[in-house]
Amino acid sequence: MQKSNAGTLGAARKSGRKAGEPFSILIVDDQESIRMLLAEVFQIAGFKVQEAQNGRMAIAKFSEHPFDVVLLDLRMPYMSGIEALREIRRMDQEVIAVMFSAYGDQANMDEAKRLGVRRFFSKPFDIELLKNHVLEQLQ
Ligand SMILES: [Mg+2]
Repeated sequence: MQKSNAGTLGAARKSGRKAGEPFSILIVDDQESIRMLLAEVFQIAGFKVQEAQNGRMAIAKFSEHPFDVVLLDLRMPYMSGIEALREIRRMDQEVIAVMFSAYGDQANMDEAKRLGVRRFFSKPFDIELLKNHVLEQLQ
């Protein structure tokens, strides 16, 4: 994989990130292998990466400090990605949110859209497509 500084491009947001500093991304999935894969891809792209294995942990991390990007799995124990994003949106209306699932039904996809998710990825997703989608949103 090619190393790039793409993770530092773009304008400053209210996340507190200053120009030239890396973007922050929170990866939320109950499947460790998916989190590890996404974490590696975004670390190589220059992002500051944190992980959460469920919605509660994601909300807890968000209440500590905002992120530029949040990636959410839909199906997780305790709380769905939709429910977690609803809580996150109370704290941050700007964060770029991307959702993915192996079982995305229309009602969930509509609700995700209502919560500001521009694109819903079906598992298994193309990791480069997902990464490029995030990079485009940050420009
Ligand atoms: Mg899951």
